[in-house]
Amino acid sequence: MNQQTLILIKPDGLKKSLTGNILTRLSETKLEIIAAKMVKVSKELAEEHYKHLRDKPFFEELIKYITGELHDRKKVLAMVYWGEDAITKVREIAGATNPEEANPVSIRGQYGRITTKGIYENVIHASTNEEDAEREIKLWFSPEDIIMDLYPVKVIILEKVQKKIWV
Ligand code: UDP
Ligand code: MG
Repeated sequence: MNQQTLILIKPDGLKKSLTGNILTRLSETKLEIIAAKMVKVSKELAEEHYKHLRDKPFFEELIKYITGELHDRKKVLAMVYWGEDAITKVREIAGATNPEEANPVSIRGQYGRITTKGIYENVIHASTNEEDAEREIKLWFSPEDIIMDLYPVKVIILEKVQKKIWV
């Protein structure tokens, strides 16, 4: 079954110049990239993305991590991968959450580390299941950023919307 999944190259992945390596590893899945953009991650976006972890002791540090405060890289590369069993294929190649427990040849096993504060800096995010993928893709992308309508859309006419355009 065709699925879509959200992938983020986290600030540590960018800082370590791993974008190319990670994309090469992900290309082993033969999935299609159907959306990609650099995103400056606000605290609000970070807290919404990780809201299921709000009660964890590491939550505050996790927000600092994903917003780029720990790496002086206030951005992530957000992408949507699409194709047969996309969620499982990407999770497999990404590896376990804890980089020490991850398969050594997975992306997290190869490139992740645990900080002295105990945060798993595991270089990428990948959606866990279809429900999470839908919530996360809708959070990070608007329909026009994605080259196919993954979920139902509606067209609305906006008036007096402030928008930057090229001069
Ligand atoms: N995380 C952490 N310590 C933990 C659990 C999670 O630092 O004990 C971080 C890690 O960066 C992880 C993110 O929080 O990728 C989100 O956690 P989740 O349980 O959703 O793992 P994932 O889905 O990313 O494998
Ligand atoms: Mg998760």
